[in-house]
Amino acid sequence: MAKDNLTAVLHGINDLRLEQRPIPEISDEEVLIAMDSVGICGSDVHYLTKGRIGHFVVTKPMVIGHESAGVVAKVGSKVKNLVVGDRVAIEPGVPCYKCDHCKQGSYNLCPDMAFCATPPYDGNLTRYYKHAADFCFKLPDHVSMEEGALLEPLSVGVHACKRAGVTLGSKVLILGAGPIGLVSLLVAQSMGATEILITDLVQQRLDVAKELGATHTLLLKRDETSEQTLERVRKTMSAQPDISIDCCGAESSTRLSIFATRSGGVVVIVGMGPAEMNLPLFNALAREVDIRGIFRYCNDYSAALALVASGRVNVKRLVTHHFDITETQKAFETSRDGLDGAIKVMIHVQARNANN
Ligand code: NAD
Ligand code: ZN
Repeated sequence: MAKDNLTAVLHGINDLRLEQRPIPEISDEEVLIAMDSVGICGSDVHYLTKGRIGHFVVTKPMVIGHESAGVVAKVGSKVKNLVVGDRVAIEPGVPCYKCDHCKQGSYNLCPDMAFCATPPYDGNLTRYYKHAADFCFKLPDHVSMEEGALLEPLSVGVHACKRAGVTLGSKVLILGAGPIGLVSLLVAQSMGATEILITDLVQQRLDVAKELGATHTLLLKRDETSEQTLERVRKTMSAQPDISIDCCGAESSTRLSIFATRSGGVVVIVGMGPAEMNLPLFNALAREVDIRGIFRYCNDYSAALALVASGRVNVKRLVTHHFDITETQKAFETSRDGLDGAIKVMIHVQARNANN
C-alpha cells in the first residue's frame, strides 16, 4: 500500500491540484481509511467551475470528492463495528448528534453537518482519509468498491423514492436522466413502480435509461415549453403520473413536474436549480399536489447497500469512465464536458479491482 497521501485539492475556480497532505490522526471513534474508489458528482464539478453552490462557498483550499469506498487501515480504541481490513462504503455527512433534528432522526437537516467536500469541510479524494466509524458501511465480499462508492448517489434515489411514496403499481415521471435520475429510476422500479417515463435532452442518456428498464423515454427539445412537453407526456403514459421526481432542477422541468402530476399526487424536487423560479403554485394547490424537497439522504445507506448486495439493483451501468487519481484533472474534464458519453466517472485511488 502506498505510503504517501496524494490528495486532490481545490484551490479556487478551475484550480484543482494534486498535492501531498499529512496522513490524518484518528480519534477514538474514527477509522483511518485507505481510499479505493471515488466517483465524481455534479456538485464536485460545480465547485470546480463556479467555486460555490448556493451559500456554500469555497473560501480556502478544500479536498474534493465524496462518493467513496475504501479499506479500513486503522481503528480508534472505541470502535466496535469495524476491524482493520474491512471494505467499507463511506456515508460522507457526519452530523452533530445533539440537535433536535439529529435526536429526532432527520440528521440530514442538522445545521452542523460536516459533509465531505462541502465547504468548509474536506472531501476524500485522497489516499488516506479519516471518518466517523458509525458512518462507514461494511461491504460484503461480492459488492465491489465501485458499487460501494455508488451507494452515495443511490441513497439519494432511495431517499427521493421514499419521500415520494413510490409503491406497487406507481406511475412515475422522472425528469432528467443523469446519474440521479437513473438511480431514482432503479429504486422506483425496485419499490414496485410499473410505469416509468424518463425525460432528458440527451438521447444517449435516455438509451441507458431504457436499458435499465424505463418503460418510456422522451427526448425534449431545448426550446420546448413545459406546456408543450406536458402534451407529449400525456400521449406517452397510460395515465397521469402519481409521482414526478425532478432530477434536473431547470425551471421548465419543475413546472412540468407540477402540471403533469395527477391530482392528489406528489412532486419531489431533487434537482438543485436557481434559488427562485416561476412555478404554477395555484395549479398545485387547487389539485392538492404535494411538493416535497429532498436533501441528500437520511438512514438510507443500509437500504441502498441491501438493494445492491441482493442484486435487486444494478448500478454498474452508470459508470462510463475510469481514471487513476494521478489523472484527476482529465477525469474532471471528462465529467464536466460530458465527453464521450460520460455519465459517472470513477477515480481509482488504488489500482482498479485491487480490493474487488
Ligand atoms: P446531471 O447534470 O448529470 O443530470 C441532469 C440531467 O438533466 C442531464 O442529463 C440533462 O441533460 C438533463 N436536463 C437538463 N435540462 C432538462 C430538462 N429541462 N428536462 C429534462 N432533462 C433535463 O446531474 P445529476 O448528477 O444527475 O444530478 C441531478 C440534479 O440533482 C442536480 O441538480 C444536482 O445538483 C441534484 N442533486 C440534488 C441532491 C439533493 O440532495 N437534493 C443530491 C444530489 C444531486
Ligand atoms: Zn445535529
